[in-house]
Amino acid sequence: VTSVIIVGGGPVGLMAALGLARLGIKSIVFEADQTVCEGSRAICISRRSLQLLARLGAVEPFLEKGLGWTDARSFYRDTLVFQLQLPSRSHDRFPPFINLQQYYAERFLRDACLASGLVDIRWCARVAAFAQDAAAVRVTLENGDTHEADWAIAADGARSTMRDLVGVTLKGESYERHYVIADIDIAIDWPTERKVWFDPPSCPGSTVIMHKQPDSMWRVDYQLLGHENADDALQESEIRARIAAHLDWLGICAPWRLVWKSLYRAHTLTLDDYRLGRLFFAGDAAHLVPIFGVRGLNSGLDDAANLAWKLAFVIANAAKPELLGSYTQERRAACLENIAQATKSTWFMSPPTSGFAMVRDAVLNLAIENPAFRDLINPRQAGAHVYASSAIGAAPPAWRGQPLPDLPDAQFGFQFVALAADQSPDPKVDAPVWLIRPDDYIAGIGQDPISLAQSIGVTDWTYGS
Ligand SMILES: Cc1cc2nc3c(=O)[nH]c(=O)nc-3n(C[C@H](O)[C@H](O)[C@H](O)COP(=O)(O)OP(=O)(O)OC[C@H]3O[C@@H](n4cnc5c(N)ncnc54)[C@H](O)[C@@H]3O)c2cc1C
Repeated sequence: VTSVIIVGGGPVGLMAALGLARLGIKSIVFEADQTVCEGSRAICISRRSLQLLARLGAVEPFLEKGLGWTDARSFYRDTLVFQLQLPSRSHDRFPPFINLQQYYAERFLRDACLASGLVDIRWCARVAAFAQDAAAVRVTLENGDTHEADWAIAADGARSTMRDLVGVTLKGESYERHYVIADIDIAIDWPTERKVWFDPPSCPGSTVIMHKQPDSMWRVDYQLLGHENADDALQESEIRARIAAHLDWLGICAPWRLVWKSLYRAHTLTLDDYRLGRLFFAGDAAHLVPIFGVRGLNSGLDDAANLAWKLAFVIANAAKPELLGSYTQERRAACLENIAQATKSTWFMSPPTSGFAMVRDAVLNLAIENPAFRDLINPRQAGAHVYASSAIGAAPPAWRGQPLPDLPDAQFGFQFVALAADQSPDPKVDAPVWLIRPDDYIAGIGQDPISLAQSIGVTDWTYGS
């Protein structure tokens, strides 16, 4: 019996399917396209996402193929005005980011799903209708086939059909300015880092970003100026001329090939609720955040991992259905934080008014001489959200909703259940919480948390291994 129908086989749908499979739950994924995405799209995968992938036993190919990086440098015209080294300690298991084309990420997730034996992926299967009642969900494909399951996940992306089918809409803001996003195949002997030029002589008034990807691929993004027509700017000849000018200015004369091009406009949009009865929204179907700070794909993977374990526990009768109420609460709070951070980055990268542009340029000018202004240029790259106000956070405030430290498996297991007592035996201290292995948890269902913790040998604040 299929427990969960997933609409959309992009990275978020596949991640949700894998998360369910790892806890023994079968799913069926309906994907409109015939295979993984075209074009590199999201290329920066955060440490947080790598941790989630590791938890699902899928991180190895990402690390083998991806290019790890820690450094970010920003230039104003031709002067270096900001340099950041993202936190990376010798015992960290993962770098702060890896760069990897989204088609590789989707392939690796697809392969892990298929290897699990619990995920049935149907390509060329566009969902055209959806219905649900108190007991089940039903989807109808474009070819007329119908399928039923207990639950459904809508991971069908920014233009979600599922949102339209159930009549919910994203709310928030859309920005006017466009970016051209292109991938070029070129051999440049530079390290992997995030490089940004504000108002470079090669592209006056604009902002240009360059990122190295595997297979000698380079991402080049540049902002269109207010008077430029987006359709004209997407013409291949126009893109070639712009990129050539920037490479010339950098003194790079290696031959190159334009591989992919796309137009991007920033949005800060979210659904009010990520759940509608037995249907859950995840990834771009639930929210759209600007790409600056790389929270699009990364936050979608976090949605999928969050939802998958909760659904799996409810389906296995290992948790009460009320647990599912925490999905919107946690992930919408994360989305609002992402929107707040990404909005600041967007205003800086792409000032929405002449007033903002004046302040931004003043900061960049001042930062040349005065280090105090350099922090305002911080690109605010994505990090883990702290679920401080989660309804399932019974831990003392210092611990509540904190991500686990990034330590190697040998020192620290990656699969935990937070086991919380309803109340503390001592009213002066918070109720205790233990992190234990899911196997111990499932074996102990029915026992009260304190005796379960004692029976597996944890007696105080501690990590189960
Ligand atoms: C040019 C570009 C650059 C980006 N750069 C970054 C970046 O650097 N970092 C970052 O974090 N994010 C970035 N993003 C965003 C990132 O690509 C998305 O956030 C991510 O793809 C969202 O994944 P998803 O699975 O939610 O949606 P999608 O990847 O859009 O997948 C949705 C899937 O659903 C399928 N589908 C749609 N309708 C139906 C239907 N009715 N039935 C069945 N299947 C259906 C689609 O075919 C698609 O495969 C970028 C996006 C773009 C376009």
